[in-house]
Amino acid sequence: MFTKILIANRGEIACRVASSARRMGVKTVAVYSDADINARHVALCDESVAIGAAPAKESYLSADKIIAAALATGAQAIHPGYGFLSENAQFAQACFDAGIVFIGPPASAIVAMGSKSAAKALMEKAKVPLVPGYHGDQQDPDFLQNEADAMGYPVLIKASAGGGGKGMRIVEKSQQFKDALASCKREAINSFGDDKVLVEKYLTQPRHIEIQVFADTHGSCVYLFERDCSVQRRHQKVLEEAPAPGMTAERRMAMGNAATAAAKAVGYVGAGTVEFIANQDGSFYFMEMNTRLQVEHPVTEMITGQDLVEWQLRVAFGEALPLQQQQLKIHGHALEARIYAENPDNDFLPSIGTLRHLRTPAAVAFELGGTAEQPAALRIDSGVREGDAISPFYDPMIAKLIVWGRDRQEALTRMSDALSDYRVVGLNTNIAFLKRLVESVPFASADLDTGLIERHHAALFPAPAPVSIEVMALAVMALLAHESRRTRVASSDPWALLTGWRMNATLQRTLEFTDLGQRLPVTLDYEQNGWTLGYANLTSQVTLVTQQGSDYAIRVDGRLVRGTVVVDRDTVHVFAAGKHAVLPYNDPLAHAGQVEAEVGRLTAPMPGKIVAILVCKGDTVQKGAPLLIMEAMKMEHTIAAPRDGMVEEVLYAMGDQVEEGTQLLSFKV
Ligand code: ADP
Ligand code: ADP
Ligand code: MG
Repeated sequence: MFTKILIANRGEIACRVASSARRMGVKTVAVYSDADINARHVALCDESVAIGAAPAKESYLSADKIIAAALATGAQAIHPGYGFLSENAQFAQACFDAGIVFIGPPASAIVAMGSKSAAKALMEKAKVPLVPGYHGDQQDPDFLQNEADAMGYPVLIKASAGGGGKGMRIVEKSQQFKDALASCKREAINSFGDDKVLVEKYLTQPRHIEIQVFADTHGSCVYLFERDCSVQRRHQKVLEEAPAPGMTAERRMAMGNAATAAAKAVGYVGAGTVEFIANQDGSFYFMEMNTRLQVEHPVTEMITGQDLVEWQLRVAFGEALPLQQQQLKIHGHALEARIYAENPDNDFLPSIGTLRHLRTPAAVAFELGGTAEQPAALRIDSGVREGDAISPFYDPMIAKLIVWGRDRQEALTRMSDALSDYRVVGLNTNIAFLKRLVESVPFASADLDTGLIERHHAALFPAPAPVSIEVMALAVMALLAHESRRTRVASSDPWALLTGWRMNATLQRTLEFTDLGQRLPVTLDYEQNGWTLGYANLTSQVTLVTQQGSDYAIRVDGRLVRGTVVVDRDTVHVFAAGKHAVLPYNDPLAHAGQVEAEVGRLTAPMPGKIVAILVCKGDTVQKGAPLLIMEAMKMEHTIAAPRDGMVEEVLYAMGDQVEEGTQLLSFKV
């Protein structure tokens, strides 16, 4: 086996590869950009090499620097992870030319599958079923429109070089074809530097079902069954599972055979995924082949009990596949949820910032754990720790949460419990949305197709409900504890603070929150054993039962209520009953004067460099919206809007070096 490999990636996948290498006794070399000097993947590897500035083009996409790092550290092979250089044939070739093993397929196989059109032409020859369509070289708009008219609408125009859900246009009728074509070509040239497109029949209500394949250099090729990745937003996967609900043994074998035929047609070696689009009746068509390890490979690992990264290393070293087809079996059911720093309520726009508080459900970090029959029930593949930042430079995925159950129902329950226990403060995440999705009727009943999220929009994006008295009571309890710590009036015991009030004869107090965009005054009346809390038309008796760190148990009108409360600056986050409530708190003491002073003048907290400007002159923004990101002391600092308002002027440009206290923007309320 190799003694040392270099991992040409970052984030969760770099950590995940490092963990298998370590278990196999293979030393690892991390590479990192300036933004990642303190990243988890660097800490997990045995050695690390700096490869340049934060933008991926200058670091993680710099083939020369990465190969130089491998040569300098004596790494015998490079694992590219996914994204970045993983499907770059020139990089695979450059590794080979430098005498380094590329842990992936030969460059020729990447080239063959790299263009969706060329791949389809090859697959046609290999008798793999294709979606009806045109994937030839003719790109004349009239010709393409004629093809579309002949196949019947709706059709899908796809960038041949596309990926990541980009460069696709659905066309409903002939009159819209030319405009859609032009817009697709524009996006394709901008994103992929190649405006070649193909046109195919757009299937309505299809499922995305893909087959994991593995081939070695000795001529063996197996499939490790399917994954259903139908639940998508913007053509990108959100939830993945294995096996696919409703899959019959015959269909599985037919799809497996089609996938291995596809791999063999291009002389494939290593891990690959053949993606199919399937009709509800089960008929399926080749869509594309991803010539790398896939983001969602853990669900396959869970149901097969195999470590696919270990397989990759063995195959790359020249060993035969660890198992033959008939030795592979499916055990139970696995689900994966991609936890993203994004805002589902704002069209899933990425959210950046610092993970100020991060608690995850109890899990083995990455251990395959358990046995093939009974794998570990919960796995978290993550590239971040509390205090790390999600920056604008890279993919905003925070982690992958993977669960296993004896059947789909058990896996569903575990996923929904695990999502409740996944707690992030500091940026927006899709966790609450994922939980609604997992618990939704269509997903729970496996009524799957790629339009699930859009079709069930109303149920998946319910109008926000007013805060419940239980949540409010937890928030107030934690604020009092927080306040007593901060002002050092007494110990951290909220009762000490309350005693303080009584001594001062201050038996009533009003706190002010914001809920559903409205000011919400909450009154507290001190009583013998607790207090009466009142807001809107509600009143309740509240007493503290226990407090341990940020975990509270309280009684609200005699009912026991438990929750975790994190006070983050002027926002109270309450995690209770499987939900995350965010309550802005208008602190009269902290903000007297301070906010006024901040408004209109946003200054650099320390000397540093401007690495991202997220707003333009004249933009109106909401309180807390990130405006600008500075990099200082190897850390990123987000400058956020202190209030709802408008950006009057952005005073510096990207890359500018600024001194502490420099005004960066002017802002009008
Ligand atoms: P699949 O799920 O089929 O593997 P995706 O397109 O969702 O396909 O996965 C690849 C995507 O992962 C890339 O398009 C990119 O946005 C994202 N990505 C690439 N590198 C990383 C990384 N290091 N960490 C997280 N996400 C990444
Ligand atoms: P990418 O390279 O971006 O992953 P794919 O060709 O794999 O592009 O397609 C991504 C997604 O787009 C699929 O998972 C599916 O949801 C949708 N899609 C692709 N082709 C079709 C089609 N012919 N009909 C309907 N939906 C499609
Ligand atoms: Mg795809």
